[in-house]
Amino acid sequence: MEQIYYKSTRGNEKLVKSAEAIAKGLSEDGGLFVPTSIPKLTIGLEELNHMDYKELAFTIMKEFLTDYDEKELLESIDKAYDEKFDTLAIAPLSKHGGSYFLELYHGPTLAFKDMALSILPYLLKNAVKKLNIDKEMVILTATSGDTGKAALEGFANVDGTKIIVFFPQQGVSAIQKKQMLTQTGDNTFVIGIEGNFDDAQNGVKQMLTDESLLKRLDDNNKMFSSANSINIGRLIPQVVYYFYAYTQLRNSGEIKIGEEINFCVPTGNFGDILAGYYAKKMGLPIKKLICASNENKVLYDFINTGIYDRVRDFVITMSPSMDILISSNLERLLYAISGNDSGKIKSLMDNLKKDGKYEIDDNMKKELKDFFGGYATENDTQSAITEVYKTTNYVIDTHTAVSYAVYQKYLKETEDTTKTVIVSTASPYKFTPDVMKSIDKRYIGLNDFELIKELSKITNGDIPAGIKDLETKPVLHKVVCEKNEMQIQIEKILNI
Ligand SMILES: *Cc1c(COP(=O)(O)O)cnc(C)c1O
Repeated sequence: MEQIYYKSTRGNEKLVKSAEAIAKGLSEDGGLFVPTSIPKLTIGLEELNHMDYKELAFTIMKEFLTDYDEKELLESIDKAYDEKFDTLAIAPLSKHGGSYFLELYHGPTLAFKDMALSILPYLLKNAVKKLNIDKEMVILTATSGDTGKAALEGFANVDGTKIIVFFPQQGVSAIQKKQMLTQTGDNTFVIGIEGNFDDAQNGVKQMLTDESLLKRLDDNNKMFSSANSINIGRLIPQVVYYFYAYTQLRNSGEIKIGEEINFCVPTGNFGDILAGYYAKKMGLPIKKLICASNENKVLYDFINTGIYDRVRDFVITMSPSMDILISSNLERLLYAISGNDSGKIKSLMDNLKKDGKYEIDDNMKKELKDFFGGYATENDTQSAITEVYKTTNYVIDTHTAVSYAVYQKYLKETEDTTKTVIVSTASPYKFTPDVMKSIDKRYIGLNDFELIKELSKITNGDIPAGIKDLETKPVLHKVVCEKNEMQIQIEKILNI
């Protein structure tokens, strides 16, 4: 098998194996680790049809993680995708009113972040072993709401690790916040910041590359890693479900083998959709990757003009996990569409830092043809929830609603009849106030926990285990800090 190496998007030419890329999280030069080439699927698509989620995960992930031995990988997959998920299918595809929804929220924290964060701790544990690292791993994480809880669940009580999560105090749903603040485990730390997700992510990235801080950590026998999608170990497990959606469509007779399909992905940090791009490069027949934004529509503007401009107001929307103006993983796409030109990426990223914007050249613009950019206003999002419920009785969350609304716009604009999978990233139980008021005005005024019960009634479903006892769980984390105090908090926790 061809050995896959990883390098930084920003010029550091050193090649590392996947274990090192996963352990580090971010390259020293501030760039993101990328595979030097995307592996091609080595077996025919039809051979994937009979595989369950775990078998498929192994088939796809071993192509990227060539320095992991098969036993390690199989064990990790086995432990990750177990009864933590409330369905054996792990990521079921369901059809409602002619639309296909890929439900990625059946994990313990009710959002798609579980798809990768349930396996990342095992990948990291194995990496530490392989690299003979004898240090405590400190996992720094910024969250727009869902990564935080998923990372806390994944790393709680994992020996040799501490997990520290920063979230925007004013920018997550009440359920998301309660999920994080009630996290148990002596190695877990959750801190609210007076700022938005971009502030949290900038702070984390800055600390991950701060030489003097890294030296002090090292002197104390500790090392940073990251659970954000800047870590390539988050992206690789996400490639799997694109293939899984395809085999489910195939097995239910909706498509023929080899037929092209589209995916419509609600996007924030560009991690999920980038995994779809990698799936396409591996050989999955994808025609368009439809990038769905909310009112923070930097990516819509970028895909349509080639200009990335974060200098604008940050909007707090009802799809908070997508309230992001600096989409970190776009850097990995830029690297790919520039023909792996790390010098160019460095200069674009320098512009972004200095002026808040950059423009790509015409050749790179042409390479954006795999994508379609659309966005949904708050009104569009709310109408999407209403429409889907009124016509099919199916309840979608606010992020999935952005995706659904953008797909309707895509249909109108392109008249493309290619079968399209709407990537469904969160359970409606996480965002009940906006979901329920879109279904019926009479729910306005009820609190989150009353709404959870109402949602369970109208869907005839059980309240998911992950939030069942949330109302009465004690809050264990109470620290709030200014956005420029993140490092001080870390120093306090680590006593360095
Ligand atoms: C994180 C998240 C997204 C955005 O995914 P990215 O990989 O950041 O683009 C969309 N929906 C939900 C529910 C999320 O938690």
